[in-house]
Amino acid sequence: MAEQKQQDTASALKDIISHAKEYGFVFPSSEIYDGLQAVYDYGQNGVELKNNLKTLWWKAMTMLNDNVVGIDASIFMHPLTWKASGHVDSFNDPMIDNKDSKKRYRADQLLEARAEQYEAEGTPEKGKALLQEMAKFLDAGELDGIRQLIIDENIKCPISGTLNWTEVRQFNLMFSTQVGAVSEDASLIYLRPETAQGIFVNFLNVQKSGRMKIPFGIAQIGKAFRNEIVARNFIFRMREFEQMEMQFFVRPGTEMEWYNNWKETRLKFHKAIGLPAENLKFHDHEKLAHYANAAVDIEYKFPFGFKEMEGIHSRTDFDLGAHQTLSKKKQQYFDPELDENGKPYGNYVPFVVETSVGADRLFLAILCNAYTNETTGEGENLKERTFLKFHPAVAPIKAAVLPLVKKDGLAEKAQDIFHSLKRSFNTTYDDGGAIGKRYTRQDLIGTPFCIAVDYQTMEDETVTIRHRDSMEQERVHISELREKIGNAVSMERVFEQL
Ligand code: ATP
Repeated sequence: MAEQKQQDTASALKDIISHAKEYGFVFPSSEIYDGLQAVYDYGQNGVELKNNLKTLWWKAMTMLNDNVVGIDASIFMHPLTWKASGHVDSFNDPMIDNKDSKKRYRADQLLEARAEQYEAEGTPEKGKALLQEMAKFLDAGELDGIRQLIIDENIKCPISGTLNWTEVRQFNLMFSTQVGAVSEDASLIYLRPETAQGIFVNFLNVQKSGRMKIPFGIAQIGKAFRNEIVARNFIFRMREFEQMEMQFFVRPGTEMEWYNNWKETRLKFHKAIGLPAENLKFHDHEKLAHYANAAVDIEYKFPFGFKEMEGIHSRTDFDLGAHQTLSKKKQQYFDPELDENGKPYGNYVPFVVETSVGADRLFLAILCNAYTNETTGEGENLKERTFLKFHPAVAPIKAAVLPLVKKDGLAEKAQDIFHSLKRSFNTTYDDGGAIGKRYTRQDLIGTPFCIAVDYQTMEDETVTIRHRDSMEQERVHISELREKIGNAVSMERVFEQL
C-alpha cells in the first residue's frame, strides 16, 4: 500500500513554492533583478493549468447556465466608477509600523492572529470578543482604539520584539496612474481593484442587447490590482491578480434565495474539480462590507490554514444604485411579470448576488492539493515518489508519448501517435533517458497518462498506458487511445457533476 504523507506546516508551502518554480508552474516576477514583491509569472505548465481552471469556471458559468453571459471589460474605467463603488473613500486597510524594526503590518491582521491564537489555546470566546471589539472600532473609524487593542493584547513586533508602535493609519489599496499625454491635462485614473464594476456599468448594455430577463448573470475573468500592505503566502496575496466574478441580477426580495443557491453551486464546483470536501468550508462574515446584506467565504485548507478562496456576497442594489445617482443615468429594469396582486413588478434597480473567486487562489488550492509525497515498499525496496495528482481535466498536459528506445523505428512510431493525439488534447513527446526517469518527469508535472511504445507495438499496434496515481499499466490498441484518454481528460467529466 502506498503511504501518502500530508504535511500541514509552513515547510509544506516552501516545498510547493520550489516545486512550482522548478517545474515551470510559477516564477517570481523579474527574478533576474531579484524579483518584485507579491508579483509572480506563470510558466509553461502553470499557464496551461490556470487556463484550464479559467475555462472550467467560464463554461460552468456561461455554458451550463442559460441565463448567464460573459463580458470582457477594460482595466481602466472612468474615475467616478470608483467614487460610486466606495473604493475611493473606503477601500482602505488599517496599517501600523513598528518604530524599531521599521516593519509595516496590517493592524487588523495582528489582532486576527491573536484571535486565532486564543482559539488554538481553547479560549475561542476571548478571540471572538476581540474581533467584535475590533469591528466596532473599524466601523466607527476609531483607529486609536485599534492601536490600544494591540497594546492591551501585548502584541509585539515579531522582528524587534517591542511594543513601540506608530499610530494606526488608513491606507488606500488602489493603484493610480495618469492618462493623457500632456501632464496638465492628464487625469488620475485607477487600475481596477475588482472586476465587478466593469459588469455593473455594462448592466444595461448587456440586458438590452441580449434581451436578458431577470434573473440573469454576467460573468467576467480579468486582472485586478491592489496595493496590499503585507503580501505573503506566495500567490495567495498578490498585488496583481486575476478574478473570476459573476454578478447575478435578481428581483429585490429574492436575493437570499439566490444567495443560498449560488453558495451551494460554487461549493459543488470546487469539489468537482478535485478539491476534497474536508478541505473546504463556508465562513460567514461577522463584519459586512458597506454594500452587503449577507456574505460568506468559501475557505480552503491551505498549508497555512483555512483561508478565503472565494467570496459570495449579496450586494443589494448598492452598486447599481450608486452608479445611478452619480451618473444620473437610470439603472433600472422593467419587470413585466405579475406580483400576487396581479400587477406588474414594473421598474426597479435590481439586487445583485456576486460570486467572486481569485484564479490564483484557486490555482494555489489545486496545486497544494495535488502535491503528493508517497512512499511505497519497505526496507531496501523503499521508494519515495513526488507527483501532482491533478484532476485529469485540470492537468496541464494530458498525455506523454514515450518510445521505450529511439532505435528500430520505435521513435518514429511514437512520433506518429504524438502528432495524431496532439490535435485532440495537450500531448507531449519525450525520448530522452531511461523510461523510468521519463515517467518521473511526467509525474512531477502531473500528467495523468503516459503512453509507452515498445517492441510489441511494432508487431500488434498496441501500447501501454501508465496511470499516474496508481502507476498501473494497461495494454490498449493505438486506435483506442484518442477516445479513452480524451474521455478521461474531458471537461465534461467535471460538468456532469454540476
Ligand atoms: P482578503 O480578505 O483575503 O484580502 P477580500 O475579502 O478582500 O480578500 P474580495 O474583495 O472578496 O477579497 O475578492 C474576491 C476574491 O479575489 C477573493 O476571494 C480572492 O480569491 C481574490 N483576491 C482578493 N485579493 C487578492 C490578492 N491580493 N491576491 C490574490 N487573490 C486575491
